[in-house]
Amino acid sequence: MNDINNQTIQYQDKSIQYLLKALQRDKLPHALLFTGIEGVGKLIAALQFSMVCNCENLPDVSLIHSSCGECRSCLKFLSGQHPDIIKIKPDGNAVKISQIRMLRKQLTYKPVEAKNRFVIIMQAHLMTTESANALLKILEEPPPRTRFILIVENQKDVLQTISSRCQQVRFRPLSDIFIEAYVMQNEDIKPEFARMIARLSFGSVIRAGLYQKIKWQTKRSYIFFRLKQFDRLSIGMRLSFAEQLAKNKDDIPLILEMIMTWFRDVLIYRFCPQRIINIDYQNSIYENAKKYACQSVIEQIEKVQTVQKDLLSNMNRRLAFEELTMSMIQQKL
Ligand SMILES: [Zn+2]
Repeated sequence: MNDINNQTIQYQDKSIQYLLKALQRDKLPHALLFTGIEGVGKLIAALQFSMVCNCENLPDVSLIHSSCGECRSCLKFLSGQHPDIIKIKPDGNAVKISQIRMLRKQLTYKPVEAKNRFVIIMQAHLMTTESANALLKILEEPPPRTRFILIVENQKDVLQTISSRCQQVRFRPLSDIFIEAYVMQNEDIKPEFARMIARLSFGSVIRAGLYQKIKWQTKRSYIFFRLKQFDRLSIGMRLSFAEQLAKNKDDIPLILEMIMTWFRDVLIYRFCPQRIINIDYQNSIYENAKKYACQSVIEQIEKVQTVQKDLLSNMNRRLAFEELTMSMIQQKL
């Protein structure tokens, strides 16, 4: 396991200790719901935990890292070939019913060799209603020696009938200091850039990784370039801005989050400038904070939230962005 994974697991010690204690007392629930934003170590913890639960060399189960890494079980695990560690991830954009049917079939057999068979469902919020109901049936009559770990951001991301059958284990966002140190491991990065990334990542190493990529730095520069002079944009420019933003479906959540941080910063600058996220745009944020009334910035934030909701309900994304950019801040102080 690499350093960052190790450090993340250490950071999540409280959640890990809960699991290890339950295991030692032989009280491990058969279904667990790991919750927390992406990039805080939920999957790594699930994998490490299933490894230590199955190590054949009697590891010290009060320590998550005590699996030997050499026994038959550990070796199969490390090569990703363990027949009793079943990982299910979305096929395309959903965990489909065919995947859960196949799982159900697999679970009719006893575990091949493991003391504890694990079924890890990644992004479990992407289960279709059909899949979720099929999984619920399995959870209602769990097969022997089998544990389920469902990974989601929030408890409410799965049906209540499912979450009520799972013990929730919360994973907290990583601290800014943690992310900053992680980003600084790359020697080419300047401390102020690392600090900005840490604030922008909201405690997620996945986001910290994305924001270090040129693609996202370029996107961010473009978006902020437009936002800082928004009152001067013509209708044509607003429409083309909307078109750019809507271009790639997968990028939209992060784009909206960036836009949100911008308005958040403009709003809080006049109260506590030291708390802004986009510290490298401090001057432009200051200029905007002087220009706009608090109320219009708050309305703007609400509009971005509306787009976030609209897009979840599959509204046409270009239209949603056009609506947003056409109605954006015009009202000056
Ligand atoms: Zn082992």
